[in-house]
Amino acid sequence: MKLLMHTCCAPCSVYCIGSLRKENIEPTLYWYNPNIHPYIEYKARRDTLKEYAKSINVEAIFNDEYGLDEFCRNVIGDLKNRCSNYCYKVRLEQTVKYAKENGYDTFTTTLFVSPYQKHEEIKRICENLAKKYDIKFLYRDFRVGFREGQAKARELGLYMQKYCGCIFSEAISNYDHIVSARQVQLLENKITERKIRLGWEVPNLELKPYKNGNKEQIKFIYDLKKEVYQKYVEKIYGKWNEEIQKKLFDRFMKENSKNIELIYLNDELVRILQWKRNRR
Ligand code: SF4
Repeated sequence: MKLLMHTCCAPCSVYCIGSLRKENIEPTLYWYNPNIHPYIEYKARRDTLKEYAKSINVEAIFNDEYGLDEFCRNVIGDLKNRCSNYCYKVRLEQTVKYAKENGYDTFTTTLFVSPYQKHEEIKRICENLAKKYDIKFLYRDFRVGFREGQAKARELGLYMQKYCGCIFSEAISNYDHIVSARQVQLLENKITERKIRLGWEVPNLELKPYKNGNKEQIKFIYDLKKEVYQKYVEKIYGKWNEEIQKKLFDRFMKENSKNIELIYLNDELVRILQWKRNRR
């Protein structure tokens, strides 16, 4: 299988390459990231990937385009939706075009490793591009290995970026050390949840009842609960451990699974709603 993997940076590629090689799939990396600004940051990420690819003997193609002006022109009208409406699309479409023109059977992206990216949105874009260009899309949920990959990247001394890529994400991450993008997202999710409870209209929102739960939903709830349990366990036992976490999670699911609804916003799982029995 000839696979072209869009690659956003070296640290994200660590787990993706490793797990594909375990499947006996040898990817060719494809660098096309005109969303990374300023140039000094673009260069640092590109050059790190060049060195890393060489060190592990993986083929890498560099489509070198620093696109500050073009990027800003295209996202400025709708900054909130810049990732889905523009950034993912241009990078992935260029990757697919290259794959198609150069005899690759299939494509994927390292963006699937990050829990901070809009995973479902990226998947949807890839599926549409696969249809449009008549090429196979290799989907892998690399998020399971995110922490492992990041830890290995740190061990290897790779350059680790502190923000997603564009100057707008840089502004969010550096604007205030306390108000990180993740905190803004959590706050937005809480506001959404409050609106739902008050019966207000929220555009692009879907409430799906959790019945038996697919793997992705269970993992989502597990991760959310982990934060809560961790604090709870540490308070009582002084030390958190995975076994207690699992026991508490199983008990939670046994007692509450009928009363869970999941909030999807723009196809993205954002929160769980846990209703009290007497409220239904
Ligand atoms: S935040 Fe990241 S994914 Fe979104 S537009 Fe900026 S660089 Fe692209």
